[in-house]
Amino acid sequence: MPLDGVFTYSVPTALAEQVKIGVRVLVPFGRNKTYVGIIAKTHKGPLPSGMQIKDVLQILDPSPILLDSQLRLWQWIADYYMSPIGEVYKAALPSGLKAEDGYKPKTETYIRLTSQFRSEQALHIAIDMLQRAPKQQKAFIDFLSSLQGNLLTPDSRLLSPVSEITRDELLNQGHSLQTITALIKRGLLETYEQEVGRLNHGGEPHLDKIQPLSPVQQDAYNQIQFSFLKKNVTLLHGVTSSGKTEIYIHLIRQALEQKQQVLYLLPEIALTVQIMSRLQRVFGDRLGIYHSKYSDAERVEIWQKQLSGHPYDVILGARSAVFLPFQNLGLVIIDEEHETSYKQKDPAPRYHARSAAIMLAQILRRQESGVRSQENTPAVDSSLQGNLLTPDSCLLNPRVLLGTATPSLETYHNAKTGKYGLVELSERYKGIQLPEIQVVDIKDLQHRKMMNGPFSPLLLSKVREALERGEQAILFQNRRGYAPMIECKQCGWVPHCQHCDVSLTLHRNLNQLTCHYCGHTYQVPTECPNCGCTQLQTRGYGTEKIEAEVHEIFPEARIARMDLDTTRSRQAYERIINDFSAGRTNLLIGTQMISKGLDFDRVSVVGILNADTMLNYPDFRAYEQAFMMMAQVSGRAGRKGKRGLVILQTKSPELPLIAQVVRNDYVAFYRSLIAERQQFRYPPYYRLVYVYLKHRQEPTVAAASMEMGALLRQWFSGRVLGPDKPGISKVKSLSIRKIVLKFEPSLNMSEVRKYLSLAQQQLLQNKRYSTLQIYYDVDPL
Ligand code: ADP
Ligand code: ZN
Ligand code: ZN
Repeated sequence: MPLDGVFTYSVPTALAEQVKIGVRVLVPFGRNKTYVGIIAKTHKGPLPSGMQIKDVLQILDPSPILLDSQLRLWQWIADYYMSPIGEVYKAALPSGLKAEDGYKPKTETYIRLTSQFRSEQALHIAIDMLQRAPKQQKAFIDFLSSLQGNLLTPDSRLLSPVSEITRDELLNQGHSLQTITALIKRGLLETYEQEVGRLNHGGEPHLDKIQPLSPVQQDAYNQIQFSFLKKNVTLLHGVTSSGKTEIYIHLIRQALEQKQQVLYLLPEIALTVQIMSRLQRVFGDRLGIYHSKYSDAERVEIWQKQLSGHPYDVILGARSAVFLPFQNLGLVIIDEEHETSYKQKDPAPRYHARSAAIMLAQILRRQESGVRSQENTPAVDSSLQGNLLTPDSCLLNPRVLLGTATPSLETYHNAKTGKYGLVELSERYKGIQLPEIQVVDIKDLQHRKMMNGPFSPLLLSKVREALERGEQAILFQNRRGYAPMIECKQCGWVPHCQHCDVSLTLHRNLNQLTCHYCGHTYQVPTECPNCGCTQLQTRGYGTEKIEAEVHEIFPEARIARMDLDTTRSRQAYERIINDFSAGRTNLLIGTQMISKGLDFDRVSVVGILNADTMLNYPDFRAYEQAFMMMAQVSGRAGRKGKRGLVILQTKSPELPLIAQVVRNDYVAFYRSLIAERQQFRYPPYYRLVYVYLKHRQEPTVAAASMEMGALLRQWFSGRVLGPDKPGISKVKSLSIRKIVLKFEPSLNMSEVRKYLSLAQQQLLQNKRYSTLQIYYDVDPL
């Protein structure tokens, strides 16, 4: 349950032996309910007087399902991100592990020789013994022969005790269950149960298939190794297609040689598909994949495997993989570290997987160095890496490697100020040039009536040429659906969601209007309810409409679309990516999903249809996001063999940011933005916490947020901004207010949290606010 805090229970003497941190227990809760809980802490001593403490009812696990390091990480997440610990558990544990008996491992019945018959001599006796029971004899001999070479140990006298033969296999050879049971009754054979995995088996590892690094890559690899000796966290800043992934593969091999585990995080499930096949080729069945598109049963199985004596050595996963148990983690790779999808937005815990992974590494290092971490949770994010180097701490694992072509401002700042190590890789593999970027002024073309819908003539001709040459093209539009809105031609009426303060998106394939905030769907109106006019026109372009128009213009193109709507299942991702990789499709249309680290060989043209939607977003991070998105999507062009071309369509070609994208000048981009952040007191110079208040009644949330603001001003004075009505002020029938807390990093974060909770408590004492929701977004993105 998403409860805050931990609860105390007493342990009956009969159960005392089995109580360990990390095992699940059945406990009474409330008046007459029982729940599953996890033991977080044990203490001995007399019961405190005056407190009513109930008994633990039952212990559910023979051994812990959680490691100490996980408990510590989860507690840190709960504290740091101001989220009830129950929410963290809910997010972290597959539900099969939460329910009392939700997970049943699938087992199979195996057959083996009983111990007294595991010698050649005994076998001869056994076969003689079966002379009068020919069916049994035949079954027995078949059993022995199917063991083949497994039977005899090298000295050919003793027989190996365990042979992997299932009862079903034997039954399949035409022997009846009766016959087999008879052999068991005679004491020749016995059955045993073994868990079978539903997991993929990747086959034998082939470390010999690892490609040798180029001299430039080798140099970067060596620098990383050197940096690992001095820094806990290192940034690999390498342009797109420079071979960062190849370098990771070499680092993983090295960790495996040292018998260490590796956690490889990716921001997006779409990416795991490609990287998975690259890693599986070399690491085979030593690689496990973990993310939310896997079924719960599969996730439970990976979890159990990681706790077992033969865990995966490499875990590749999206952000939730940071919650898995690791027994011997040596290296954490956070690929595309700049991606905002590493931060969970909704629901709680609103954690950043990069920070969580860095924290996990720190917790494990502390454990290794035997340093007891303080009772209090560690301090702020930016001080995670602030450890002083001591001679014996400098070789501790795990190390953390962040990789990207476009580091987040925070990370590059940390690297530039020496908190992180920094390794730069500035050329593409085989020296292929970065793509040429041509800017197209669509405002001008619109004036001159030269645009074909959302496409400029240049873009269309370049795409046509590419397709004619047998190459591929990508079109990027960061809006899904058909049209972001429909509008009455006469009076300008726009349909809105009944539950949210947003206009509805038209999805033509489904023939409905959808709210992208609450998921509600509506029928497409045939006439305007306002003026009765039947001419409703669409405004703007979503990927679905782009697809329809491209289909008109290039009827022979084999088009694929990748966005949230076309990738609801894991198989859908795989199919779209594999089809495009193999050339079965040649024109890919997509949202930001396609910008992320995908590696395609034959893409010669990339079109960015409208840069302005990204630039005009009302947030201090809009420019950062826009730069990264454009640089990343450009990086998909011209990866193998030849230089690619990017057509960048915008209404504001004069912006310095556009020029920085064109020159692929990350450093200039960084310098201008970081100066702005400093001047206007934004991260990484200042810290932010957003306080959200929600209520069904608009006046209630308005009053509550004013009171909350006043309470906070008592302590934080000018550091409190708002309350404000956010751009989207109602979602799912709840009216929203937002208070921004902006403060200098020297302020003690746990004090900040303390006062926030205090204000919340005081506010909620008012009965009027009993159904008010308050939550926090710490280090918001
Ligand atoms: P990045 O991760 O920096 O975008 P990749 O590792 O995906 O770059 O490399 C880009 C392409 O170049 C891939 O197709 C990869 O297989 C190839 N490549 C990079 N380095 C090597 C190498 N040392 N040997 C062979 N191929 C390489
Ligand atoms: Zn109208
Ligand atoms: Zn809605």
